[in-house]
Amino acid sequence: MPEPTPALRVHQRLLAHYGPALWRTPLPPVDELVSTILSQNTNDVNRDRAFNRLKVAFASWEAVRDGDPAAVVEAIRPAGLANQKGPRIQTVLQQITAERGRLELDFLKDLPREEALAWLQHFNGVGPKTAAIVMQFSLGVPALPVDTHIYRVSGRLGLRPPEMNVEAAHKYLEAQLPPETYYDAHLNLIRLGREVCHARKPECPVCPLREICPGRAA
Ligand code: SF4
Repeated sequence: MPEPTPALRVHQRLLAHYGPALWRTPLPPVDELVSTILSQNTNDVNRDRAFNRLKVAFASWEAVRDGDPAAVVEAIRPAGLANQKGPRIQTVLQQITAERGRLELDFLKDLPREEALAWLQHFNGVGPKTAAIVMQFSLGVPALPVDTHIYRVSGRLGLRPPEMNVEAAHKYLEAQLPPETYYDAHLNLIRLGREVCHARKPECPVCPLREICPGRAA
């Protein structure tokens, strides 16, 4: 049996420590796309407040798409950067409609994975993380989103070259793990980053990965 990759060893240890991860109930893909755009540069609470306000203010995604830009900006203000995110959301919704004839993303399930990821990323403001979130968590197609926690933790663990940027880290880390592990690996690495491997002061003495981490503090 081949030796597990360092990333797989990390995943296995986190799975033993935290157990299988469970995210929220999956959202429909357009909802997930909008929610993920709202999440950029803010926390989950503010993202959800903005998302819920948008759903209350507009009866459908078509109504958001065609709505008054100022009303969209006002609805999503809790997420921050509302003047950027509002037009970005409306433009993406308009472009999806223009290309597909209607506002839906379920067709992505039937495309080859790489093609679907690339299609999502041709929209302004949709990068590899957002595309991977929609694919993995809404459409159930394996993809490994690399957020700020996973990027930091994977660097400290030596799972990627130190100078590699976050965009390139997506494909690099995916290649080191079996696709069926992406869901748990993503969520457990984020949990480790939030609870233990903090940006400023990692708590290495209590970290479940301390025995295999080259970046641990003495
Ligand atoms: S040992 Fe320290 S640096 Fe390494 S993953 Fe754990 S908390 Fe982060």
